[in-house]
This record gives sequence, C-alpha cells and structure tokens, in this order.
Amino acid sequence: MENRLRLLLALQRVDSNFDDLQELKGDLPGIVRGLQDKIKEQEKLKKDLEDTAKQSLVSRDEADSEIISLKEKIEKYKTQQFEVKSNKQYDALSREIDYSQERITKLTKGLEQLEGKASNAKEDAKNIGPEMERLKTELKEKGDELALVNKEHEEEELKLRHEREKLVVRIQKSDIQMYERIRKAKGGLAVVHVKRSACGGCYNRVPPQRVLELRKNAHMMTCERCGRILVSEDLAHDSSETV
Ligand SMILES: [Zn+2]
Repeated sequence: MENRLRLLLALQRVDSNFDDLQELKGDLPGIVRGLQDKIKEQEKLKKDLEDTAKQSLVSRDEADSEIISLKEKIEKYKTQQFEVKSNKQYDALSREIDYSQERITKLTKGLEQLEGKASNAKEDAKNIGPEMERLKTELKEKGDELALVNKEHEEEELKLRHEREKLVVRIQKSDIQMYERIRKAKGGLAVVHVKRSACGGCYNRVPPQRVLELRKNAHMMTCERCGRILVSEDLAHDSSETV
C-alpha cells in the first residue's frame, strides 16, 4: 500500500508541475485557437460570397444567351408569317412571338437582379479582406508569443510527460481512475498530505486518530470533507527526495 500511495503522490507532483507550466502560458493557447477559428469562419464566408457572385454571373450569362436565341426565334417567326397560307398558322406564330417577348421581358428584369446580387456579393467579399488581415496579424503576434513560451518550457514539459508515462505504467488501473476522478473534480489536486493535522487540500482538521492511522500507510484514506486522497506528512516528506 505504501508504494501505491507513493506512486500516486509522485503522479500528483508531476501533474501539478505540468499544470504550473500550463498556467504560465495563460490565455494564449485559447486566444490563438479562437483567432484560428475566426479566420476559418471569415474565409468560409468570403468563399461563399465569391461563389454566389460567380454563380449569379453564370446565371446572368445563361439568361443573356437565352434572350439572344429568343430574339432570333422572333425574327424567324416574323419571316415565317409572310410565308404562311392560313390565318390559323399566322395566329399560331403570333402567339409564339408574344410568348417569346414575355419571356424576354422577364429575363431582362432578372438580369438586373442577378447583376446586383453578383456585385453585392463581390463587394461584401472584398470588405472581409481588411478584417482578415487584422485577424491574421493578431494571430501571427499571439502565435509567436505562444511559440516562444512553448519553446521556453519544451524541455521541461517533455521531461514531465516522460516521467508521467513511466509512473502510469506502475500504478494500478483502479488507482489511476480514482486519482483522475478526484483530480478532475477538485481543480487538479487529488493527492494531498496532512499538514499540522489538517488536510492539505481543504484545510479541514484531521482527527489525531486518523493521523495516526495515516502514518501506517496501511490503506487508502480520503479527506472526510473534500474527498482527496490523504498521505501522511512523513511519506510526503521522504518521497520528495526519492521521487
Ligand atoms: Zn480535504
């Protein structure tokens, strides 16, 4: 049992050191992530607007060609009207001409709308440019800052990760699970030692009987108030040199 406790305490020390390092980075990682997300969003918006502009111009060109071919048809119908033999045929051609005219009117109206849509979308896409530049500059600055902080602590982080891996393989799975659960619930601190008869996590008084019990390192004990795993001051003390 004593060894189990020592290992958990060692794990806590590694994790706490790691947490301290992360704290030095402050909000930087979050800020960098936020900026990256915003840039992605703006890029997507810009692309959507450009697609809208492109698609509107394609539709405009299609309407344009349709108008041209309708006009050709009308000319053809008009020529045919001179050659027909009956009123019925003549009227049928007139109806075709009317229909084509109506269609041309409708398409012409649509042309303006499509052009307006395209130029609005293009304008909006263009306006995103300066905002993107601003975000990119900010990302560059914050990213450089973060890279610098990361580099400063790279070696230490690597060392801690390594130590953690080595410890984890030596600890029982159920102990790790318990440790992780408490750590998550208690702001990172799962294993504490009793200091002057008080829990090192919540400072609740630990009764003398329990302090004595704790010194035996015979079983896993948790704080009655905060639920953190308790180790005796002695164990904490002589583990500080060995682990
Ligand atoms: Zn406590």
